[in-house]
Amino acid sequence: MIYPIERGRWIVTLTGTARDYPPTDEAGFLDFARSLDTPLLHDAIRDARPLSPIWGYRRTENRLRHYDQLDRRPEGFLVLGDAVCTFNPVYGQGMTASALGALTLDRCLREQRRRHPHGDLGGLAGRFQHRLARSNATPWLLATSEDFRWPLTEGGRRSYRTRIAHHYLDRVLAAVPKERAAQQALLEVLHLVKSPIALAHPRILASVLAEAARALAHRTPPPRHGREHPA
Ligand SMILES: Cc1cc2nc3c(=O)[nH]c(=O)nc-3n(C[C@H](O)[C@H](O)[C@H](O)COP(=O)(O)OP(=O)(O)OC[C@H]3O[C@@H](n4cnc5c(N)ncnc54)[C@H](O)[C@@H]3O)c2cc1C
Repeated sequence: MIYPIERGRWIVTLTGTARDYPPTDEAGFLDFARSLDTPLLHDAIRDARPLSPIWGYRRTENRLRHYDQLDRRPEGFLVLGDAVCTFNPVYGQGMTASALGALTLDRCLREQRRRHPHGDLGGLAGRFQHRLARSNATPWLLATSEDFRWPLTEGGRRSYRTRIAHHYLDRVLAAVPKERAAQQALLEVLHLVKSPIALAHPRILASVLAEAARALAHRTPPPRHGREHPA
């Protein structure tokens, strides 16, 4: 991934899956970039001037704490952000999920003030944690179900529903280069602007079915994710 940031600088992130760790020395980093399916990223950074060392990060677990399910809770104690739900950073959803949590808190506080204009906080914590759990549900589903593509993922098994979702998403990805609606919906879902149901829009569904029929006729496998895993 390569993002423009302030003052004409770029932030470059390489990620690996299933213990395929991108090296943190410059030569190894470039070699890893060269090994990707597309040369675009390597070509973009080959002659760039590094402004900082390369930092590695290997904590990729998703972790959800169920504050919403507490039988008893201290009133006025509210928890949000990573303290409740942390994602594998490869999906880049933690800040968005935290911001959505902050909006949920704002709505709950306004409602509390309407109900109790004199400042009583009774019931606020429980109501907020339940709504936050609903708000975190989609990013949690997206992150955990994607992680289940990889056999080394620990902490559960790929359910039948997840398998179907993977097959469907593979076909959506295959349709993306040709179908603008699929491209738009996929970006909106990944950026948490829309619910994953947006990927079942009839137009996308038609492209997915056409793509599946084409693949069946030519016996082509769905697109591969990531780079070829090293032996
Ligand atoms: C490598 C990496 C890449 C990421 N990339 C993305 C991305 O591209 N997009 C995205 O949306 N998200 C990304 N995230 C996730 C995102 O950074 C977090 O989800 C987000 O920062 C969570 O915000 P937060 O306020 O809950 O926690 P934090 O940002 O961790 O803030 C918690 C703060 O509390 C402070 N603190 C801790 N303990 C105490 C204490 N006892 N007293 C006082 N202060 C304390 C900490 O120092 C910290 O400043 C990434 C995360 C990582 C690790």
